[in-house]
Amino acid sequence: MHPILLGIVVGFVITQVAVFSTTLYLHRELTHKAVMFHPVINEIFRFAVWISSGIRPRQWVAVHRKHHAHTDTTEDPHSPKILGWKKVQLMNVFLYRKAANDDTTVASYARDLPQRTTDRFFYDHAILGLGLLFTGLVLLFGFVTAGIAFGFHAILYLGLSGSVNSIAHHFGRKTFGTNSGTNVTWLALLTAGEGFHNHHHAAPTSARFSRKWFQADPGWWIIKILSSLKLADVRHSDVDKLANRVTKSSNFVKI
Ligand SMILES: [Zn+2]
Ligand SMILES: [Zn+2]
Repeated sequence: MHPILLGIVVGFVITQVAVFSTTLYLHRELTHKAVMFHPVINEIFRFAVWISSGIRPRQWVAVHRKHHAHTDTTEDPHSPKILGWKKVQLMNVFLYRKAANDDTTVASYARDLPQRTTDRFFYDHAILGLGLLFTGLVLLFGFVTAGIAFGFHAILYLGLSGSVNSIAHHFGRKTFGTNSGTNVTWLALLTAGEGFHNHHHAAPTSARFSRKWFQADPGWWIIKILSSLKLADVRHSDVDKLANRVTKSSNFVKI
């Protein structure tokens, strides 16, 4: 295969590893406690997040919980309604960093995720994780393909993360009128189900983001497989039932 094409294919695969680790581990498990994975699966996800994104889980969780708690207000770290969808799309990584670097955000929203010893030595060092990935790619494919793969992955992952926060709060369809999230099928396909953002805001504690069998929620398919192997314990998965409960309850939509 041509080195450029190979670089793009490898970069796409790495992005998908990052996307699945983000939605399954950071989002559905750590943030919303919608599913609990076996400790071994958690360590694999933890490592995958580290080398593919350098994200510190407690920071991601805090920023995302703040988004749910203050959606579309000035307290929302990345609201298209406040900032405009283009700014959120293009500046998402900087908006994220600004909120993540605020220690009060982590202290208020991620108290359940204290820094661990492995975090101090390894996982809190993004450069180390990303450097490990890049070194591995160079050893496997050579410098040119590794550079293209790494660059393509960085652009695609940052672009898709921005799209969930911008496009899936601005374009697309709404099943539930109770929130500003939207459903964008092509985005769901590329983000392991995150594109069903209207469903997700209506029922944040559901491990399943889709409502129908034909809706693309690859993250949920992986949960079903892990669950059948006794490697995942699903807490909730019925969007409609949870959404009704949220509508009836007056003080929900915190997490
Ligand atoms: Zn949202
Ligand atoms: Zn969420």
